[in-house]
Amino acid sequence: MARRTPDLTVIGGGLAGLTAAITAAEAGARVTLHEAHHTLGGRARTAGAEPGEQTQARYRTHNGPHALYAGGPHWTWLKRRDLLGPVTGVPLHEAARLRFHRGGVLRRTPPAALLRLLRHRPEHAPVDEDFTTWAGRVAGVDGARAAAHYTAVALFHHDPGSLSARFVQERLRRTTALPPEAHYPLGGWSAVVDRMAARAWNLGVRVETLSRLDTVPTDTPVVVATSLEAARRLLRDPTLTWDSGRTALVDLALRRRRGDAFAVSGIDFPAWIERFTAQDPSLAPSGESLLQGQVPLAPHESAADGSARAELLLDLAYPGWRSRTVWRRDAVAQGRTGALDRPGTTWRDRPAIDRGDGVYLAGDMVAAPGVLSEVSFTSAIEATTLALRRAVPAAPGLDLKFG
Ligand SMILES: Cc1cc2nc3c(=O)[nH]c(=O)nc-3n(C[C@H](O)[C@H](O)[C@H](O)COP(=O)(O)OP(=O)(O)OC[C@H]3O[C@@H](n4cnc5c(N)ncnc54)[C@H](O)[C@@H]3O)c2cc1C
Repeated sequence: MARRTPDLTVIGGGLAGLTAAITAAEAGARVTLHEAHHTLGGRARTAGAEPGEQTQARYRTHNGPHALYAGGPHWTWLKRRDLLGPVTGVPLHEAARLRFHRGGVLRRTPPAALLRLLRHRPEHAPVDEDFTTWAGRVAGVDGARAAAHYTAVALFHHDPGSLSARFVQERLRRTTALPPEAHYPLGGWSAVVDRMAARAWNLGVRVETLSRLDTVPTDTPVVVATSLEAARRLLRDPTLTWDSGRTALVDLALRRRRGDAFAVSGIDFPAWIERFTAQDPSLAPSGESLLQGQVPLAPHESAADGSARAELLLDLAYPGWRSRTVWRRDAVAQGRTGALDRPGTTWRDRPAIDRGDGVYLAGDMVAAPGVLSEVSFTSAIEATTLALRRAVPAAPGLDLKFG
């Protein structure tokens, strides 16, 4: 009996769309991927990595992911396919230059309360309670606030303590794990995107760039792998919403100075500044350091409020930074930093992957587990599995074991 080749349309060519396309093509599907932009990668594009980008071609900056967490399923998925490529960690002598902004000064050691809280597995933290209330019982009110502010590194929220205790505790544990989970693709995330795109190409995926779809095709199953906001417009479904962060971003290239901090964690207020050339000097020309600061903003705050708080930390941790600045860019990332779960909710409560009628959602704000972009990978694999099962319910020889 001849095997039926299932067709699949993927909308969006970020990490989720590329994962969906590769997964489906590996299982034998004929895949067409539509991407609105002229290049692939979505938020994982590295600026300065594209030929012809003149303005800041000297700096490889990110408006999305920096760290790739080794404990996530996407790590194994990429590694098995040889798509991870060279990654780097933070050298020990640089890690020793992590500073904590507490009591108005920079300190070398984390708050003791953080260590006390780290003994608790995420399952010990209640879903229904906010982090501040639960952590306050474990480590005191000040300790709970300090730990909550530390998690800004992966939460991008102005009041992380107001979120579900289980959700925050998982991120607290992942971001403080030893050995550190955070790894960094050498040359930036575009290197990973390029490898994923090459894999898709080799598997025969038809990639249409500069192809923004306004409606969803009805002749094949579809994986909508856009941001949730774009999916809401595309599917004309106002229920497709979930909380996400709003954060000021300050990118800076400084003339290098020995002894600069590797990173500053905001404990008095949520913030994180990291000198990414510490782990990957190729991101900036020699003699220069590339930093990105992110300062979460409350709804009533402006971008200038965030920049001002970032400058306060820069003054403390990077002496003379104003006169050493070679390039600077200020921006705000709104609703782009992944899902945030409020008390009483978990990832299972987010918009479901199966939308009915052969339409499936993937991305970092939908009902799938993981931290940050891990949700995009996990949901893409689930969405593709469901889509192909629908296309070919019992296809002999169709490999639906994705690992
Ligand atoms: C400041 C910041 C820091 C972050 N740090 C980290 C980190 O350290 N680690 C981590 O893991 N994650 C991090 N993230 C999160 C990470 O960037 C995202 O989770 C991930 O990149 C999302 O990928 P995606 O494919 O789901 O969505 P996207 O990257 O948004 O891709 C969606 C794609 O769909 C395309 N599209 C939209 N509409 C249409 C349409 N109608 N037709 C065709 N194409 C369309 C878009 O052009 C885009 O390319 C960070 C995010 C931000 C903003």
